Amino acid sequence: MTLKIKTIKGEIEVLTGLHIGGNKDTLEIGGMDNPVIKDPATNYPYIPGSSLKGKLRSLLEWYTGKAPQNNGRPCSCGRCIVCRLFGSTSDNAKHPTALIVRDCFLTEATLKKISEENLSYLEDKVENSIDRIRGKATNPRHTERVVPGVKFSFELSFKVFKNENEKDFMDAIATALALLEKDYLGGNGSRGYGRIKFHNLTIDGGRFDIEIKQLQSN
Ligand SMILES: [Zn+2]
Repeated sequence: MTLKIKTIKGEIEVLTGLHIGGNKDTLEIGGMDNPVIKDPATNYPYIPGSSLKGKLRSLLEWYTGKAPQNNGRPCSCGRCIVCRLFGSTSDNAKHPTALIVRDCFLTEATLKKISEENLSYLEDKVENSIDRIRGKATNPRHTERVVPGVKFSFELSFKVFKNENEKDFMDAIATALALLEKDYLGGNGSRGYGRIKFHNLTIDGGRFDIEIKQLQSN
């Protein structure tokens, strides 16, 4: 078999208020200044796979030293573990994207708590910006956040091409997920927003442990 597809599944638990910005164009009058993104089909918050994937890529680029080399722009060398896993669009080193990260929706258990126990899953966090000259708080800003304890389902798959080593990809993903637990998801991480934890991770049904590992940087 020349191509294998591996799937990692689990749950993401929100540990501190999570804000992934929604579309302000659809904001109703009198609504939140800064709403979280919601699934138009259900109006429940979700984590877009694209933003999770972008965050994982960026963490791995910092970890492997690619980000400073590229002044923070995505690497496009086409050879490093980040390019091999996440894809590269540069003309001289096109590399297919091996990794697909699915949108993360609320878990069944969280939905049940919402419907049966009236769990409130969103909060309105008011942040004051301080006028440093007058020392007064001005323009309180309302930011919507998903509250701690809410869980989202998580799923990603990756293709292992014939010339690739499956273990390299698994190590890179285990590292990226472990780095994310030490970092944050969404906005305002420096103010303590967006800490998360993974639970019950499996790879093709077997247990998958996350851990920061030594990776080849080139
Ligand atoms: Zn690269």
